[in-house]
Parts: sequence; structure tokens; C-alpha cells
Amino acid sequence: MTQIKRVLVIYTGGTFGMLKNEKGVLVPQKNIEKVIRRLPQLHDEEYYRAHLANSEKKEYLALPDGKDTELKILYKIYEYEELKDSSDFTLDDWIKQARDIKKYYHDYDGFVVLHGTDTTAYGASVLSFMLETVGKTVVLTGAQVPIFQPRSDGNNNFLCALLIAATQLIPEVTVFFGAKLFRGTRVKKVSNTRIYAFDTPNYPPILEARTTLDVDPKMLIHPPGSVPDECRIHDRLSRKVYTLKVNPTITAEVIRSVFQGMEGVVLETYGNGNIPIKRKEIYQEIERAVKNNVLVVNVTQCINGTVQGKAIYETGLLLVECGVVPAFDMTAEAAWAKLCYVLSKTELSYQQKVELMKTNIRGELYNPNHVVVNGK
Ligand code: ASP
Repeated sequence: MTQIKRVLVIYTGGTFGMLKNEKGVLVPQKNIEKVIRRLPQLHDEEYYRAHLANSEKKEYLALPDGKDTELKILYKIYEYEELKDSSDFTLDDWIKQARDIKKYYHDYDGFVVLHGTDTTAYGASVLSFMLETVGKTVVLTGAQVPIFQPRSDGNNNFLCALLIAATQLIPEVTVFFGAKLFRGTRVKKVSNTRIYAFDTPNYPPILEARTTLDVDPKMLIHPPGSVPDECRIHDRLSRKVYTLKVNPTITAEVIRSVFQGMEGVVLETYGNGNIPIKRKEIYQEIERAVKNNVLVVNVTQCINGTVQGKAIYETGLLLVECGVVPAFDMTAEAAWAKLCYVLSKTELSYQQKVELMKTNIRGELYNPNHVVVNGK
């Protein structure tokens, strides 16, 4: 008997469904389902007419199968009322996505979020933290070239994301792009022109599309069978978080104005976590903020590498001494998302928030002094 798997596709906008407007610039288009229904690689119209069109499943689309399987993958596209270029996303957009995954959790076997690539790294990270328990596969994907164009990479990205969401049990938030599935808390957008737009410079991909699409269970955060089939979300986030990149022209005034009113700051520092120390007022400004309970996290500007708890250079020592928190090998995007999440946990003390920032809770960092915990 044919086994049916259902996937919910949340369409939020992004290049995947964009066309040029009268000014010649790309904007999201409504009714993406109509376009996808015409693509034989993504929809089996014959099956639809025979099995779905006249049933309560008429809102579904059907993935074509290889005729050698007993599995049929059906998916429903839930198109958001307001489609956005993801550059316009605020925390509210991801809170809505998390709430929708929770709302429809028991109706589907897996979830795909069609998301603009510009903020996928932020979105995948923040969703990873908000979904405190998720027992099904969640895949974010999108395109560099719109689905309307023959050369679109959207076809393959979407197809692979659907197949993974329906057939692989990967209970965490992931990103599929090009030929790889990445951990949500590890991705960075590394190119705005290449088809391979994403990478996880400090972590291997969790799955690579080959002739098969099977995940190696060793790559998962949680061993198979260890996550309950339920969705628990934390949908409060601090908005008083910002990222400041250290430049040679940095001044105490710049630091003061960015830190003003913030609960948390991601400080993107040089190399192993270094800042200029000869201009003492720079360090003093950061030290003052930490004393005032601003949670400052030290992330390296390097694409690859880590900021350890112990300084390597004199130019990194003062930050360690005044209580700036090392991010280890977290990306700046993951550190930002984790601060938004951790700082909203009002039940925790400042010191507990600091400890949580240094602890691996969603596969976002490797801290050599800690063991992995299934943190909340
Ligand atoms: N600006 C677009 C967006 O983030 C880029 C993309 O989707 O590739 O929505």
C-alpha cells in the first residue's frame, strides 16, 4: 500500500518567487502555487487529478515519484498574506513562523520554509533557538535565481528540501541549498551570486545530496528516537540586541551609541578575539557596559575559527578580564539569535545567561570545556 507523507510549505517571500517590477527590481509575487503546479518536476498533475482533485486533499500538490517507490509525498503551500524580501524581516516574522510550525505540527510529517536568502542565517538560527523541542524535520530553503526563470536553482533546492522533510527524521532546524543540508545555527550566506550561497565554515554539512538523500544519524544533534514527537516553542525574544564590528576607526563614542539601551551586544573582534588596547577609552567603554549588565559576546570576524575563554594575545586579555563572554566558534548570526533568545529568559540571572551563552544548546558552538547538553 502506498504510504503518504505530508509536508507543510510556508512561503514567506524571497527571490524564489520574485519577478521584476516596473522599476526593474525584484519583488515577491503572490500565488506561487499556481506557478509550481505547472512544473512537472515539482507537481504530478496526473496523480493529482486521479487521487486528490475531487477529495478533501484538493489543496495539496503531489511530488512526482520515481515509479519505484511506495511513498507518495503530498505538500500544501501556506502562502503568507504579506510576502517579503527577507531583508525586511523583523523578529516578529520568525515568531510567526515558529508559531505556525507549532500550530500545524501534528498535521504534517515535516516542514519547509521558503525564505529569502539575505537573512536565512539569522532566521535559521533564531528558529533553532525558539523551537525548544521539535520532533520533525524543518528545512529552510530558497533560490538565487527566481523559479520563473529556466535556470532557477529554486527547483532543485525546493525539491530536495521537500524530499528531506518528508523522508528524513532530522529533528532540528536546517537549511538546504545547492547540494547540501546545513545545521541552522551554523550557516552563513557566503555568496550573492553563486548557486552555492551558503556554507557552515566551522561545521561539516549534515547531509550532502548524492545519488541518495540519506542522513548519517551521527550528524544529528539528538540521537535518533531521543526527541519526543512534539513541538514546544519559546516565542519571546529580546529586541535589545545588536552586532558591532570592530574597525580601526572605532571610537568610544561609536561604542557608547551602539551599546546605549542594549541588553546584549555581539562584538565582532579581530582574529582570536582582539581589540585595539592602546586607546584605553575603547576598552573602558566596553568594561562600563559589562558592569551595567550588558551581555557582551566576543565573536571572531574570521570566517573560520574560534574565540576561546582564555586570551591568546594581550589585545584580547582585557575583554576576558572584564567579563565579555567568548562565543567560541559561533557565527555572528547565531550569537545574535542566541542573545535574543537567552536575554528573553527573565527567570534567569545575569550569570545564568552568561553560562547559557557558553553552553552548546542547538549545535551552535563547540566549547572544549563543556559537554553537549539538551539545554532549554
Ligand atoms: N533579497 C532576497 C531576500 O532575502 C534575496 C534572496 O532571497 O535570495 O528575500
